[in-house]
Amino acid sequence: MRFKRLKLSGFKSFVEPAELRIEPGLTGIVGPNGCGKSNLLEAIRWVMGESSAKSMRGGGMEDVIFAGTATRPSRNFAEVSLLTEVSQPVLAAVSVEDGELEVVRRIERGAGSAYRANGRDVRAKDVALLFADAATGAHSPALVSQGRIAAVISARPSERRQMLEEAAGIAGLHVRRKDAEQK
Ligand code: ATP
Ligand code: MG
Repeated sequence: MRFKRLKLSGFKSFVEPAELRIEPGLTGIVGPNGCGKSNLLEAIRWVMGESSAKSMRGGGMEDVIFAGTATRPSRNFAEVSLLTEVSQPVLAAVSVEDGELEVVRRIERGAGSAYRANGRDVRAKDVALLFADAATGAHSPALVSQGRIAAVISARPSERRQMLEEAAGIAGLHVRRKDAEQK
């Protein structure tokens, strides 16, 4: 799976719709302090199903919605779209044309968040599994954020194993096993 394009609207500091093409190879984000570099990485994590407010540097899930500034009113929703290139159909009931899969997550104040994949409603769990299987999940070591290197070095062995499992693309297997055990 390869990421091709990220679109944001109302997400954290990206109040106006913004679109970024992601070229093949390594991508770096540079800019002055506070310009939104970390917010971009968080947008990628969020659309992939991140459910922990803490790792989004917020108190609650709605904190990803543009909160307003002295000169601009707040927004009532945030939406992030990630366009990916996939080599095979990846979600049941979602058709893939030209090898492209667009995953969209949208949150509205008071109404929670919902996902779509190529225009069809899908469950949060399906999206998380989709990216976990592709080894690009929300906790993937492919996303290197501030403090991450130190975190890898100082991680407990069990935490480090989790990181390796994400990298190997087998994190989804644990989720499925837990599911199977509960049934
Ligand atoms: P640094 O170089 O210091 O790491 P950065 O480029 O990573 O900076 P971010 O942390 O991505 O910057 O962006 C911080 C900005 O995003 C702050 O100005 C903050 O006020 C703004 N911001 C975060 N959440 C929201 C929100 N919900 N609504 C509006 N603005 C927000
Ligand atoms: Mg930052």
